[in-house]
Amino acid sequence: MDAARWVPAYVALGSNLDDPRAQVERAFAALGTLRDSRLVARSALYRSPPFGPVSQPDFVNAVAGMLTRLDPHAMLAGLQEIEARLGRERPAVRWGPRRIDLDLLVHGTSRVGEPGLEVPHAGIAERAFVLVPLAEVAPDLDVPGLGRVATLAARLDSTGLERLAA
Ligand code: AMP
Repeated sequence: MDAARWVPAYVALGSNLDDPRAQVERAFAALGTLRDSRLVARSALYRSPPFGPVSQPDFVNAVAGMLTRLDPHAMLAGLQEIEARLGRERPAVRWGPRRIDLDLLVHGTSRVGEPGLEVPHAGIAERAFVLVPLAEVAPDLDVPGLGRVATLAARLDSTGLERLAA
């Protein structure tokens, strides 16, 4: 294997349906089996109030640190396969409740801006439920185009975000 081709990548996990903590744990386990990839770090779980216009249960969120040999498109396809396997159905409404949501936050130094794939993920800099767990596993990560994770996280109001006991 060509060790130089392993790239650090970060994935956001979220769920607010059907025992969200268990769904996030299942997703971590599935990430551990993603082809050509290794799960190398996981944040604590966080409870966060839902955002957007839909009234729905709180979310459980977390971030996974991975090493991968997949390119960003193959990695997204792998994440979507896991979502499907874990029983994700398209929410009936945008921003609606979901059993599992996996987002590719950062993939090495890649910058992709396509209709079906944006990397770094849009909205990272505004979302405490992404940045706070990301800062736990990769405080010094430089998010391409945005800057250092710990600096971005320190700027955000994380009111309402609760770190859950293990
Ligand atoms: P969501 O319902 O929030 O999971 O959004 C899923 C859609 O976002 C899919 O159609 C993806 O193609 C698209 N998408 C764009 N960029 C990303 C990304 N970095 N990670 C995950 N999904 C993405």
